[in-house]
Amino acid sequence: MTDYSEYEDELLRLEKESLKRDPRELSSGGSPVKRIHKGKEFVLFCSNDYLGLTQDAELKEITISAIKESGLGSGASRLISGTTDSHIALEKRIAAFKGKESAIIYPTGYMTNLGIISTIADKETLLITDKLNHASIIDGCRASGAKLRVYPHRNTDKLARILERSTEQRKIIITDSIFSMDGDCAPLPEIIELKKQYHAMLIIDEAHATGVIGKKGAGLAEYYDCEKDIDINIGTLSKGVGLLGGYAAMHSSLREYLINKSRPFIYTTSQPAFLCRAAIKAIDMIEEGTQRRRLESNRAHFEEGMRSIGIDFAGHLSSIYPVIIGDEQKAVEAAEILYKKGLFVPAVRTPTVAKGQARLRITLSAAHTHEQITQLVSALKEVL
Ligand SMILES: *Cc1c(COP(=O)(O)O)cnc(C)c1O
Repeated sequence: MTDYSEYEDELLRLEKESLKRDPRELSSGGSPVKRIHKGKEFVLFCSNDYLGLTQDAELKEITISAIKESGLGSGASRLISGTTDSHIALEKRIAAFKGKESAIIYPTGYMTNLGIISTIADKETLLITDKLNHASIIDGCRASGAKLRVYPHRNTDKLARILERSTEQRKIIITDSIFSMDGDCAPLPEIIELKKQYHAMLIIDEAHATGVIGKKGAGLAEYYDCEKDIDINIGTLSKGVGLLGGYAAMHSSLREYLINKSRPFIYTTSQPAFLCRAAIKAIDMIEEGTQRRRLESNRAHFEEGMRSIGIDFAGHLSSIYPVIIGDEQKAVEAAEILYKKGLFVPAVRTPTVAKGQARLRITLSAAHTHEQITQLVSALKEVL
Protein backbone atom coordinates (compact mmCIF):
# COMPACT_ATOMS: atom_id res chain seq x y z
CA MET A 1 0.00 0.00 0.00
CA THR A 2 1.30 3.44 -0.92
CA ASP A 3 1.57 5.78 2.04
CA TYR A 4 -0.10 9.13 1.29
CA SER A 5 0.14 10.45 4.86
CA GLU A 6 2.65 13.20 4.04
CA TYR A 7 0.20 14.71 1.54
CA GLU A 8 -2.69 14.24 3.94
CA ASP A 9 -0.78 15.93 6.79
CA GLU A 10 -0.12 18.94 4.59
CA LEU A 11 -3.83 19.14 3.70
CA LEU A 12 -4.70 19.06 7.41
CA ARG A 13 -2.24 21.87 8.06
CA LEU A 14 -3.83 23.98 5.31
CA GLU A 15 -7.27 23.31 6.74
CA LYS A 16 -6.20 24.39 10.25
CA GLU A 17 -4.86 27.67 8.90
CA SER A 18 -8.03 28.38 6.86
CA LEU A 19 -5.94 28.05 3.71
CA LYS A 20 -7.38 24.90 2.24
CA ARG A 21 -9.06 25.31 -1.14
CA ASP A 22 -11.86 23.22 -2.57
CA PRO A 23 -13.35 23.97 -5.96
CA ARG A 24 -17.10 24.45 -5.75
CA GLU A 25 -19.01 22.48 -8.32
CA LEU A 26 -21.33 24.78 -10.25
CA SER A 27 -23.89 24.11 -12.94
CA SER A 28 -22.60 24.92 -16.39
CA GLY A 29 -23.99 27.49 -18.75
CA GLY A 30 -27.18 29.53 -18.72
CA SER A 31 -26.42 33.17 -17.98
CA PRO A 32 -22.73 34.16 -17.84
CA VAL A 33 -23.26 35.41 -14.27
CA LYS A 34 -25.72 32.90 -12.81
CA ARG A 35 -24.98 29.37 -11.62
CA ILE A 36 -26.62 26.71 -9.49
CA HIS A 37 -24.61 25.38 -6.54
CA LYS A 38 -26.10 22.59 -4.41
CA GLY A 39 -29.57 23.37 -5.72
CA LYS A 40 -29.43 27.12 -5.05
CA GLU A 41 -29.00 29.91 -7.60
CA PHE A 42 -26.07 32.32 -7.26
CA VAL A 43 -25.01 35.51 -8.96
CA LEU A 44 -21.30 35.31 -9.76
CA PHE A 45 -19.05 38.28 -9.04
CA CYS A 46 -15.87 36.37 -9.72
CA SER A 47 -15.83 35.38 -13.37
CA ASN A 48 -13.33 36.85 -15.82
CA ASP A 49 -16.00 36.77 -18.51
CA TYR A 50 -16.00 40.58 -18.50
CA LEU A 51 -18.13 41.02 -21.59
CA GLY A 52 -20.48 38.06 -21.20
CA LEU A 53 -19.14 36.59 -24.45
CA THR A 54 -19.01 33.03 -23.04
CA GLN A 55 -22.78 32.88 -23.62
CA ASP A 56 -23.20 35.26 -26.53
CA ALA A 57 -25.79 33.86 -28.94
CA GLU A 58 -24.20 35.18 -32.12
CA LEU A 59 -20.75 33.98 -31.10
CA LYS A 60 -22.15 30.53 -30.30
CA GLU A 61 -23.78 30.34 -33.74
CA ILE A 62 -20.53 31.21 -35.48
CA THR A 63 -18.65 28.67 -33.37
CA ILE A 64 -21.17 25.93 -34.20
CA SER A 65 -20.85 26.64 -37.95
CA ALA A 66 -17.07 26.62 -37.59
CA ILE A 67 -17.23 23.23 -35.86
CA LYS A 68 -19.42 21.87 -38.66
CA GLU A 69 -16.94 23.11 -41.21
CA SER A 70 -13.57 22.43 -39.56
CA GLY A 71 -14.33 19.74 -36.98
CA LEU A 72 -13.20 19.38 -33.39
CA GLY A 73 -9.55 18.79 -32.46
CA SER A 74 -6.74 19.97 -34.70
CA GLY A 75 -5.09 16.56 -34.62
CA ALA A 76 -1.48 17.73 -34.48
CA SER A 77 0.98 20.27 -33.18
CA ARG A 78 1.56 23.55 -35.00
CA LEU A 79 4.75 22.43 -36.73
CA ILE A 80 3.29 19.15 -38.00
CA SER A 81 -0.19 19.64 -39.49
CA GLY A 82 -1.84 21.73 -36.77
CA THR A 83 -1.47 25.14 -38.43
CA THR A 84 -4.54 25.98 -40.51
CA ASP A 85 -5.70 29.11 -42.32
CA SER A 86 -7.84 29.78 -39.21
CA HIS A 87 -4.77 29.86 -36.94
CA ILE A 88 -2.96 32.23 -39.26
CA ALA A 89 -6.06 34.42 -39.68
CA LEU A 90 -6.40 34.70 -35.89
CA GLU A 91 -2.74 35.60 -35.46
CA LYS A 92 -3.14 38.34 -38.07
CA ARG A 93 -6.33 39.59 -36.43
CA ILE A 94 -4.61 39.80 -33.03
CA ALA A 95 -1.60 41.62 -34.50
CA ALA A 96 -3.89 44.25 -36.04
CA PHE A 97 -5.94 44.56 -32.82
CA LYS A 98 -2.79 45.06 -30.74
CA GLY A 99 -1.07 47.39 -33.18
CA LYS A 100 1.90 45.08 -33.79
CA GLU A 101 3.47 43.49 -36.85
CA SER A 102 2.65 39.88 -35.99
CA ALA A 103 1.29 37.58 -33.30
CA ILE A 104 1.58 34.01 -32.08
CA ILE A 105 -1.02 31.92 -30.25
CA TYR A 106 -0.60 29.26 -27.57
CA PRO A 107 -3.26 26.95 -26.09
CA THR A 108 -3.56 29.07 -22.90
CA GLY A 109 -2.33 32.34 -21.44
CA TYR A 110 -0.34 30.42 -18.85
CA MET A 111 1.53 28.58 -21.60
CA THR A 112 2.10 31.85 -23.46
CA ASN A 113 4.01 33.39 -20.56
CA LEU A 114 5.82 30.18 -19.81
CA GLY A 115 6.65 29.53 -23.46
CA ILE A 116 7.82 33.04 -24.32
CA ILE A 117 9.77 34.08 -21.24
CA SER A 118 11.56 30.76 -20.89
CA THR A 119 12.60 30.93 -24.55
CA ILE A 120 13.76 34.51 -25.07
CA ALA A 121 15.72 34.73 -21.79
CA ASP A 122 18.82 32.72 -20.92
CA LYS A 123 21.27 32.82 -18.03
CA GLU A 124 22.96 35.92 -19.46
CA THR A 125 19.63 37.79 -19.38
CA LEU A 126 18.34 39.95 -16.55
CA LEU A 127 14.58 39.67 -16.04
CA ILE A 128 13.06 42.50 -14.02
CA THR A 129 9.54 41.89 -12.81
CA ASP A 130 6.86 43.50 -10.65
CA LYS A 131 6.35 41.78 -7.30
CA LEU A 132 2.66 41.15 -8.05
CA ASN A 133 3.00 39.71 -11.54
CA HIS A 134 0.87 36.70 -12.42
CA ALA A 135 2.08 33.21 -11.46
CA SER A 136 2.57 32.25 -15.12
CA ILE A 137 5.12 35.08 -15.48
CA ILE A 138 6.93 33.95 -12.35
CA ASP A 139 7.00 30.37 -13.63
CA GLY A 140 8.28 31.52 -17.03
CA CYS A 141 11.07 33.49 -15.32
CA ARG A 142 12.06 30.49 -13.21
CA ALA A 143 12.04 28.13 -16.19
CA SER A 144 14.32 30.44 -18.18
CA GLY A 145 17.24 30.14 -15.74
CA ALA A 146 17.82 33.88 -16.20
CA LYS A 147 18.89 36.28 -13.47
CA LEU A 148 15.83 37.66 -11.78
CA ARG A 149 15.22 40.94 -9.98
CA VAL A 150 11.84 41.72 -8.48
CA TYR A 151 10.80 45.32 -7.81
CA PRO A 152 8.11 46.31 -5.28
CA HIS A 153 4.67 46.63 -6.82
CA ARG A 154 4.51 49.57 -9.30
CA ASN A 155 7.72 51.04 -7.87
CA THR A 156 9.47 52.68 -10.83
CA ASP A 157 12.18 54.26 -8.65
CA LYS A 158 13.30 50.81 -7.64
CA LEU A 159 12.98 49.60 -11.23
CA ALA A 160 15.22 52.49 -12.35
CA ARG A 161 17.84 51.59 -9.74
CA ILE A 162 17.89 47.95 -10.85
CA LEU A 163 18.31 49.02 -14.49
CA GLU A 164 21.00 51.51 -13.62
CA ARG A 165 23.08 48.93 -11.79
CA SER A 166 22.60 46.10 -14.25
CA THR A 167 25.56 44.98 -16.33
CA GLU A 168 23.72 42.46 -18.50
CA GLN A 169 23.46 43.11 -22.22
CA ARG A 170 19.91 41.85 -22.41
CA LYS A 171 17.45 43.28 -19.90
CA ILE A 172 13.76 42.48 -20.04
CA ILE A 173 11.12 44.26 -17.97
CA ILE A 174 7.93 42.24 -17.48
CA THR A 175 4.71 43.51 -15.98
CA ASP A 176 1.01 42.75 -15.86
CA SER A 177 -0.84 45.73 -17.34
CA ILE A 178 -3.75 45.15 -14.97
CA PHE A 179 -2.85 43.22 -11.83
CA SER A 180 -5.08 40.22 -11.18
CA MET A 181 -5.67 40.65 -7.47
CA ASP A 182 -5.76 44.44 -7.00
CA GLY A 183 -7.18 45.42 -10.37
CA ASP A 184 -4.75 48.35 -10.46
CA CYS A 185 -2.61 49.21 -13.46
CA ALA A 186 1.08 49.31 -14.28
CA PRO A 187 2.65 52.78 -14.65
CA LEU A 188 3.27 52.11 -18.35
CA PRO A 189 4.41 55.59 -19.47
CA GLU A 190 7.12 55.70 -16.76
CA ILE A 191 8.19 52.12 -17.46
CA ILE A 192 8.51 52.93 -21.17
CA GLU A 193 10.75 55.91 -20.43
CA LEU A 194 13.03 53.66 -18.40
CA LYS A 195 12.97 50.95 -21.03
CA LYS A 196 14.17 53.47 -23.62
CA GLN A 197 16.77 55.04 -21.36
CA TYR A 198 18.35 51.69 -20.45
CA HIS A 199 17.75 49.87 -23.76
CA ALA A 200 15.65 47.16 -22.17
CA MET A 201 12.90 45.06 -23.73
CA LEU A 202 9.37 45.37 -22.37
CA ILE A 203 6.81 42.59 -22.07
CA ILE A 204 3.34 43.34 -20.77
CA ASP A 205 0.51 40.95 -19.94
CA GLU A 206 -2.89 42.39 -20.82
CA ALA A 207 -4.95 39.40 -19.63
CA HIS A 208 -7.36 41.51 -17.56
CA ALA A 209 -7.24 44.61 -19.76
CA THR A 210 -8.15 43.12 -23.12
CA GLY A 211 -11.80 43.76 -23.90
CA VAL A 212 -12.11 46.13 -20.95
CA ILE A 213 -9.76 49.10 -21.41
CA GLY A 214 -9.05 51.35 -24.39
CA LYS A 215 -11.25 52.95 -27.06
CA LYS A 216 -11.36 49.72 -29.05
CA GLY A 217 -10.85 47.49 -26.01
CA ALA A 218 -7.31 46.43 -26.88
CA GLY A 219 -5.99 47.13 -23.37
CA LEU A 220 -3.80 49.49 -21.37
CA ALA A 221 -1.18 49.96 -24.12
CA GLU A 222 -3.94 51.23 -26.38
CA TYR A 223 -5.27 53.44 -23.57
CA TYR A 224 -1.85 55.10 -23.24
CA ASP A 225 -1.32 55.04 -27.01
CA CYS A 226 2.02 53.28 -26.57
CA GLU A 227 1.55 50.00 -28.44
CA LYS A 228 4.68 50.58 -30.53
CA ASP A 229 6.83 50.80 -27.38
CA ILE A 230 5.75 47.37 -26.13
CA ASP A 231 8.04 44.62 -27.43
CA ILE A 232 5.77 41.73 -26.55
CA ASN A 233 2.11 42.23 -25.75
CA ILE A 234 0.73 39.09 -24.12
CA GLY A 235 -2.85 38.23 -23.29
CA THR A 236 -5.46 35.56 -23.05
CA LEU A 237 -8.51 34.61 -25.09
CA SER A 238 -10.03 33.16 -21.91
CA LYS A 239 -11.18 36.31 -20.09
CA GLY A 240 -12.74 39.27 -21.92
CA VAL A 241 -12.64 37.32 -25.19
CA GLY A 242 -14.77 34.59 -23.58
CA LEU A 243 -13.04 31.53 -25.06
CA LEU A 244 -9.77 29.69 -24.35
CA GLY A 245 -6.23 30.33 -25.52
CA GLY A 246 -3.28 32.70 -25.16
CA TYR A 247 -1.54 35.07 -27.52
CA ALA A 248 1.34 37.48 -27.88
CA ALA A 249 1.78 40.29 -30.40
CA MET A 250 5.32 41.27 -31.41
CA HIS A 251 7.90 41.92 -34.13
CA SER A 252 7.86 39.19 -36.78
CA SER A 253 11.45 38.07 -36.15
CA LEU A 254 10.58 37.33 -32.51
CA ARG A 255 7.55 35.35 -33.65
CA GLU A 256 9.71 33.27 -35.96
CA TYR A 257 12.25 32.71 -33.21
CA LEU A 258 9.51 31.42 -30.88
CA ILE A 259 8.11 29.11 -33.55
CA ASN A 260 11.56 27.56 -33.82
CA LYS A 261 12.57 27.50 -30.17
CA SER A 262 9.62 27.67 -27.80
CA ARG A 263 8.97 24.18 -26.44
CA PRO A 264 5.46 24.92 -25.11
CA PHE A 265 4.60 26.09 -28.65
CA ILE A 266 6.26 23.18 -30.44
CA TYR A 267 5.39 20.18 -28.29
CA THR A 268 1.67 20.56 -27.80
CA THR A 269 -1.38 20.10 -29.99
CA SER A 270 -2.63 23.34 -31.50
CA GLN A 271 -6.03 24.63 -30.47
CA PRO A 272 -8.96 23.64 -32.66
CA ALA A 273 -9.59 25.78 -35.76
CA PHE A 274 -13.16 26.51 -34.61
CA LEU A 275 -11.77 28.27 -31.51
CA CYS A 276 -9.63 30.45 -33.76
CA ARG A 277 -12.68 31.33 -35.89
CA ALA A 278 -14.65 32.14 -32.74
CA ALA A 279 -11.81 34.31 -31.39
CA ILE A 280 -11.70 36.37 -34.59
CA LYS A 281 -15.42 37.06 -34.26
CA ALA A 282 -15.07 37.86 -30.53
CA ILE A 283 -12.33 40.40 -31.26
CA ASP A 284 -14.55 42.00 -33.93
CA MET A 285 -17.29 42.29 -31.31
CA ILE A 286 -14.91 43.79 -28.75
CA GLU A 287 -13.81 46.45 -31.24
CA GLU A 288 -17.42 47.22 -32.10
CA GLY A 289 -17.99 47.86 -28.38
CA THR A 290 -21.63 47.02 -27.50
CA GLN A 291 -20.69 44.77 -24.57
CA ARG A 292 -17.94 47.09 -23.37
CA ARG A 293 -20.37 50.00 -23.13
CA ARG A 294 -22.68 47.82 -21.02
CA LEU A 295 -19.75 46.91 -18.76
CA GLU A 296 -18.85 50.59 -18.38
CA SER A 297 -22.39 51.37 -17.28
CA ASN A 298 -22.24 48.53 -14.73
CA ARG A 299 -18.92 49.72 -13.39
CA ALA A 300 -20.23 53.26 -12.97
CA HIS A 301 -23.29 51.92 -11.13
CA PHE A 302 -21.12 49.80 -8.81
CA GLU A 303 -18.65 52.61 -8.08
CA GLU A 304 -21.50 54.98 -7.26
CA GLY A 305 -22.98 52.41 -4.85
CA MET A 306 -19.63 51.78 -3.19
CA ARG A 307 -19.03 55.51 -2.78
CA SER A 308 -22.33 55.71 -0.87
CA ILE A 309 -21.00 53.14 1.63
CA GLY A 310 -17.67 54.92 1.98
CA ILE A 311 -15.41 53.08 -0.45
CA ASP A 312 -14.02 55.20 -3.27
CA PHE A 313 -12.80 53.57 -6.47
CA ALA A 314 -12.35 56.87 -8.33
CA GLY A 315 -10.03 56.55 -11.32
CA HIS A 316 -10.11 52.74 -11.20
CA LEU A 317 -9.59 51.48 -14.77
CA SER A 318 -10.27 47.76 -14.54
CA SER A 319 -13.22 45.52 -13.78
CA ILE A 320 -11.51 43.92 -10.77
CA TYR A 321 -12.40 45.51 -7.43
CA PRO A 322 -10.57 44.42 -4.27
CA VAL A 323 -12.33 44.98 -0.95
CA ILE A 324 -9.54 44.49 1.58
CA ILE A 325 -10.54 42.73 4.81
CA GLY A 326 -7.05 41.88 6.13
CA ASP A 327 -7.49 38.88 8.39
CA GLU A 328 -7.76 35.52 6.54
CA GLN A 329 -10.50 34.10 8.75
CA LYS A 330 -12.60 37.31 8.61
CA ALA A 331 -12.37 37.37 4.84
CA VAL A 332 -13.61 33.80 4.64
CA GLU A 333 -16.50 34.66 6.98
CA ALA A 334 -17.45 37.71 4.91
CA ALA A 335 -17.48 35.60 1.73
CA GLU A 336 -19.62 33.05 3.57
CA ILE A 337 -22.23 35.69 4.50
CA LEU A 338 -22.43 36.88 0.89
CA TYR A 339 -22.68 33.27 -0.22
CA LYS A 340 -25.72 32.75 2.04
CA LYS A 341 -27.32 35.71 0.28
CA GLY A 342 -26.81 34.09 -3.11
CA LEU A 343 -23.79 36.21 -4.06
CA PHE A 344 -20.70 34.40 -5.18
CA VAL A 345 -17.68 36.53 -4.19
CA PRO A 346 -14.41 34.77 -3.44
CA ALA A 347 -12.17 35.48 -0.47
CA VAL A 348 -8.61 35.67 -1.78
CA ARG A 349 -5.94 34.71 0.73
CA THR A 350 -2.27 33.98 1.05
CA PRO A 351 -0.36 32.68 -0.88
CA THR A 352 -2.28 34.34 -3.73
CA VAL A 353 -1.98 37.69 -1.92
CA ALA A 354 0.35 38.71 0.94
CA LYS A 355 -0.48 37.46 4.44
CA GLY A 356 -2.82 39.83 6.29
CA GLN A 357 -4.03 41.25 2.95
CA ALA A 358 -6.99 38.90 2.56
CA ARG A 359 -9.79 40.40 0.55
CA LEU A 360 -13.04 39.98 -1.26
CA ARG A 361 -12.28 40.15 -4.95
CA ILE A 362 -15.20 41.39 -7.01
CA THR A 363 -15.26 41.27 -10.78
CA LEU A 364 -17.99 42.87 -12.84
CA SER A 365 -19.31 41.73 -16.19
CA ALA A 366 -21.37 43.31 -18.95
CA ALA A 367 -23.84 40.50 -18.22
CA HIS A 368 -24.72 41.79 -14.72
CA THR A 369 -27.90 43.79 -14.27
CA HIS A 370 -27.96 47.01 -12.24
CA GLU A 371 -30.31 45.23 -9.79
CA GLN A 372 -27.76 42.48 -9.16
CA ILE A 373 -25.09 45.09 -8.53
CA THR A 374 -27.34 47.04 -6.15
CA GLN A 375 -27.98 43.82 -4.25
CA LEU A 376 -24.22 43.22 -3.96
CA VAL A 377 -23.55 46.72 -2.66
CA SER A 378 -26.22 46.43 0.08
CA ALA A 379 -24.86 43.04 1.12
CA LEU A 380 -21.33 44.48 1.29
CA LYS A 381 -22.60 47.33 3.44
CA GLU A 382 -23.89 44.79 5.97
CA VAL A 383 -20.74 42.67 5.89
CA LEU A 384 -18.37 45.60 6.33
C1 LIG B 1 -5.39 34.57 -16.23
C2 LIG B 1 -4.05 35.11 -16.49
C3 LIG B 1 -3.13 34.37 -17.23
C4 LIG B 1 -3.41 32.96 -17.67
O1 LIG B 1 -4.26 32.93 -18.77
P1 LIG B 1 -5.05 31.58 -19.08
O2 LIG B 1 -5.52 31.74 -20.46
O3 LIG B 1 -6.16 31.51 -18.07
O4 LIG B 1 -4.08 30.46 -18.91
C5 LIG B 1 -1.91 34.95 -17.50
N1 LIG B 1 -1.60 36.19 -17.07
C6 LIG B 1 -2.46 36.92 -16.33
C7 LIG B 1 -2.06 38.29 -15.86
C8 LIG B 1 -3.71 36.40 -16.01
O5 LIG B 1 -4.56 37.10 -15.27
